[in-house]
Amino acid sequence: MAFQTINDIPTKAELDELYPITGEHSVDSHRAQTRAILSGNDPRRMLAIVGPCSAYSPDAVQEYADRLARLAEDLRERLFIVMRLVLVKPRTRGGWEGIMIQPDPTQSPNIREGVMVSRKMMHEVGKKLPLADEMVNTENAQGFDRPLSYTWIGARTSLSPQHRNAGSGLESPLGIKHPTNGSIGHGVDGVYVAQRPHDLYLGGKHEHSSGNAYAHLILRGSEQEPHANYDPASLAKADRLLTDPKSQIVNPAIIVDASHDNSRLNGSKDESLQTGVIDTVMYHLKKGRASYRLVRGFMMESFLKGGSQSLTGKASADQIEYGQSITDACLSWEDSERTLRSLADDVDAIR
Ligand code: PEP
Ligand code: MN
Repeated sequence: MAFQTINDIPTKAELDELYPITGEHSVDSHRAQTRAILSGNDPRRMLAIVGPCSAYSPDAVQEYADRLARLAEDLRERLFIVMRLVLVKPRTRGGWEGIMIQPDPTQSPNIREGVMVSRKMMHEVGKKLPLADEMVNTENAQGFDRPLSYTWIGARTSLSPQHRNAGSGLESPLGIKHPTNGSIGHGVDGVYVAQRPHDLYLGGKHEHSSGNAYAHLILRGSEQEPHANYDPASLAKADRLLTDPKSQIVNPAIIVDASHDNSRLNGSKDESLQTGVIDTVMYHLKKGRASYRLVRGFMMESFLKGGSQSLTGKASADQIEYGQSITDACLSWEDSERTLRSLADDVDAIR
């Protein structure tokens, strides 16, 4: 039981110098647009945080980004599309932990190389689209925040004080998923905590955070039956917890994650259900159901090819199917495009 230091990792300053974020990336404008939608100040548009469950391989991610950027341009009056570029994966019971940890999923981990590959990918893809990532470990808050226009805390770290406190100092808006057990109340507690200033021990320093006024709730479904929580009763509960004056939450907002336990049926996940989740929420909004009024957008898992593949038995990276997820199953590009176009039409219908 011990640690063995394998390598040093470039510092935040070194990474920012190697892959500078410039005007070309428009991060400030992207963050401002995200904030405007979340706060209700841009009622013409909804947010769509879409992309693969995990960013692998860099070439497939780039090809996906090229397609998504064209679609985002086409739908820009109605949707603000932010691409998921997920570099580290939190696993329930082990497995590949993302490109930053293990850049070649068939070989040994190499974090130093993974960090370089990740920042390079952010630098390239970030020229085409605003980027979103999960803050799986709070080091993201140090080395990887600069290119991001949207960050979220995942269901497995949702209760972690260190994550909530680190999120309170991020300049990008912060989504907080409720825990995997589906407790909406714990998700709302996370929003409250992340909206407040904190003193924390981060990256070897005493940091004081400002509080993240755009911290908001993400509904991702529960591992417990009946799984889905985009129904009217769940939305009414989330609305009540976020808007009760005693909750002291500003900019109350909800993102519905169409994937994860919201696309689970009879115990197993079916990625194609994501389209129905979005349609159903938009149906309620078109009907003017008040409990849905804080829904500002969606998260969706989408890649070039539909479904997912297992790494079992794959001895080298060339055996991995190009453009298909190696973590959660994703909608294919064709189904994703159809879903986003239909969402944009529904956004028109409610404006
Ligand atoms: C994800 O967004 O891929 C993810 C891991 O989600 P969750 O934290 O909701 O399981
Ligand atoms: Mn996922």
